[in-house]
Amino acid sequence: MKLATKLIHAGATPDPSTGAIMTPIFQTSTYVQEAPGVNKGFEYARSQNPTRKALEEALAIIENGKFGLAFSSGVAATDAVIKLLAPGDEVICANDMYGGTYRLFTKVFEKFGIVFTYVDTTSVSNVQAAITDKTKLVWLETPTNPLMNITDIASVAAITKAKKILLAVDNTFASPYLQNPLDLGADIVMHSVTKYLGGHSDVIQGCLVMNDAELREKLYFIQKSCGAVPGPMDCFLVLRGIKTLGVRMKAHCENGAKIANWLRSNAKVGKVYWPGFEDHPGHAVARKQMRGFGGMISFELKNDSVEEAKRVLSSTHLFSLAESLGGVESLINHPASMTHASIPREERIKNGLSDSLIRLSVGIEDADDLIQDLQKAIG
Ligand SMILES: *Cc1c(COP(=O)(O)O)cnc(C)c1O
Repeated sequence: MKLATKLIHAGATPDPSTGAIMTPIFQTSTYVQEAPGVNKGFEYARSQNPTRKALEEALAIIENGKFGLAFSSGVAATDAVIKLLAPGDEVICANDMYGGTYRLFTKVFEKFGIVFTYVDTTSVSNVQAAITDKTKLVWLETPTNPLMNITDIASVAAITKAKKILLAVDNTFASPYLQNPLDLGADIVMHSVTKYLGGHSDVIQGCLVMNDAELREKLYFIQKSCGAVPGPMDCFLVLRGIKTLGVRMKAHCENGAKIANWLRSNAKVGKVYWPGFEDHPGHAVARKQMRGFGGMISFELKNDSVEEAKRVLSSTHLFSLAESLGGVESLINHPASMTHASIPREERIKNGLSDSLIRLSVGIEDADDLIQDLQKAIG
């Protein structure tokens, strides 16, 4: 089945008791048992909920995986993966990734004895060189937030498979519409469902998708034991969001291309970060592993001062100044003081994230209106 069809039908079976075409919101904490231990597969809603089950099936199908697990946020999904590990285990991860992932790794898990090594994963040899006999997991994000760096998932997977190391990929920026890491050899795909999958800026949620049954059992055990599960209303909203992922992503990609090209032609704009440019260092890999380049764009101004960046950030009207991304409405963000403030300044600068970098999440409004809004703000 083609993706556009899967997005509409994945996980959707009419409700057996009524025929309702949309999976109902099972707002219940527990399920009545016929006799002790005799039940219909649902005992207590932290462990199982029918709305969540439908969503988890849908997530697995659209990521070309066998199993999906939904969590109360993207970071809760990441947290569950790291809880597979034990003190002394090592993780290799990207030196440019979502600030909240970096914070979780450094501020929460380091003190439990998990060791994180940050490398530039755009060069696969850096990953290879960082592997030790204690390496248990490689954590990739591609494209990265906010510098749009691209890592070759299949090449890293070839290394991790040979060494029996788990490979997890944060696929939030691409969404399953543009990239499917399991097909490229990853073991686990993670999403901040909050972003493109939800798509309407009305829910916080995360998920993991995998193929291996044993790995699914371990992660399900963590999901129910640690309890970071999403509520049924949120699962319903995401089931609804997934149905329009195809049409939304098509529009995000079209608008993204128009705005990236317009920014590049603007005399006041400096470097523009977007993997769709043929001279983007990751373009060839992006072309190979993605089906489009998305609506996330970062840029610097020629006048590289924080004040000028802040002036632009406060001058748009259609682009709302806010954290997050992937919703139908356009957002503008200042990574250094907002989404990535949890990364120490010297680390940020070292990895190329300047104080004046501006990040756009291009929505699905009319591109001409969005360009006019940016034109007025940039001046
Ligand atoms: C937002 C985001 C996360 C965290 O997800 P939450 O749903 O906010 O917990 C992780 N990775 C990336 C790339 C993100 O953009």
